[in-house]
Amino acid sequence: MSKKRVVIIGGGAGGAILANNLPFDEFDVTVVDRSPYHYYWPWLLYVAFKGSRKPMKREIRELLKPGVKFIQSGAHSVDLGNRKVILENGKVLEYDHLVIATGSRPAYDMIEGHRKIVEKYGDYHSSEENARRVWSTINSLKQGTFAIAVGGDPYRCPPSPLEGVFLAEEFFRSRGLRDKVRVVFAVPYPRPYPAEPMNEVVEPILEERGVEYITFFTLDKIDEERKVAISMEGEELKYDALVVIPPHVGTDIKISPEDVLTQDRFIQADKFTNNIKGYDDAFVIGDASAVPVAKTGVTAHLQATVVARRLQGEDARNNGRTNCPFDLGYGLGTFVISDYNNPVVKLPPSRFSHMAKLVFAAAYWDMIKYPELWNPIFDAYFEATEPAKLRRIYV
Ligand SMILES: Cc1cc2nc3c(=O)[nH]c(=O)nc-3n(C[C@H](O)[C@H](O)[C@H](O)COP(=O)(O)OP(=O)(O)OC[C@H]3O[C@@H](n4cnc5c(N)ncnc54)[C@H](O)[C@@H]3O)c2cc1C
Repeated sequence: MSKKRVVIIGGGAGGAILANNLPFDEFDVTVVDRSPYHYYWPWLLYVAFKGSRKPMKREIRELLKPGVKFIQSGAHSVDLGNRKVILENGKVLEYDHLVIATGSRPAYDMIEGHRKIVEKYGDYHSSEENARRVWSTINSLKQGTFAIAVGGDPYRCPPSPLEGVFLAEEFFRSRGLRDKVRVVFAVPYPRPYPAEPMNEVVEPILEERGVEYITFFTLDKIDEERKVAISMEGEELKYDALVVIPPHVGTDIKISPEDVLTQDRFIQADKFTNNIKGYDDAFVIGDASAVPVAKTGVTAHLQATVVARRLQGEDARNNGRTNCPFDLGYGLGTFVISDYNNPVVKLPPSRFSHMAKLVFAAAYWDMIKYPELWNPIFDAYFEATEPAKLRRIYV
């Protein structure tokens, strides 16, 4: 029997795990990525606010199991009807099954003035270079207002804007500058964290640490000359340094038919199976999809596992589980845990949750390369921390 040809576009969190989960006696797997590197994006937080120099990227080729083929090229277009992928290097790949795992990317042109402030103050959602700029921004600010603003939905990792706020506050306090530097957080939501149970955990911490926050602040434009961020509601936020969480958009691949894409270029799919709308032989996993789940590596990982099982003939389904580690500063953390049937759990801050975040980061590359060792550990962890169970304890 000939092997089924699986083409995976994107060798990031979702794509690499999926490739390494497929048995080679059954599948001929090709991963295509424009970049030679796989980035561990969550580390941008520690580059930006702790000045970490720890390497946060690995070569994709080195992360994939020896039987997986890797082509370093962008994917230019996908023809879902004719099962073809055309690469930027001109090569055409035919497939039996396609998985798009191209993540999401910052869209700087949605907010007037955004590019200018990224060049000046940096951000922690795009590149190591920009995250290093944030580190030099906070190191050079000795007084005034340091502001972080959410520029619009969606963005990677729902807790990440507030994680930056908590780490910045800790940074200025540790430098003895807290009475000179105001830390301000601006969001378009009615509360600092959009999901109410988690907001009940974080809002008191913001207040206790003297972090100011502005709600219903839908960022419209930034005037760097006057150093003000202006909201659609007409409010002005005066800053000395401003970091904006960029709104993200989906894939740059030309996809036919186009109607599988949303306006922001995310790919529409079944939220349980990740099948691209109308196609049994094509899937989208991770940040590239429009399914209503948080854009996190854990989501990409869980979706990859479901797709691997479906490709092997099982009727596996996603339950929409989220599990985002949330750094609250000062060695404390929590997790944002929910699924399709259960809202976010009100998990109190603990040192254990913070440690779990760092342990996860330390084990990340191993988890990608050896899913067969880590899958049983994850299964046990996800079962023990089911939101329905946790909600009985933490109300
Ligand atoms: C500051 C920050 C903190 C975060 N913290 C956490 C956390 O604590 N926990 C967590 O689970 N998640 C976290 N995340 C989110 C997590 O990093 C992403 O959700 C995850 O990487 C998504 O995986 P993915 O496979 O969908 O996309 P990615 O990992 O981004 O991979 C996409 C790949 O596709 C490639 N690609 C794109 N377009 C093309 C194309 N046209 N042709 C070929 N290749 C292409 C890219 O080069 C890239 O390698 C965080 C993110 C940030 C920015």
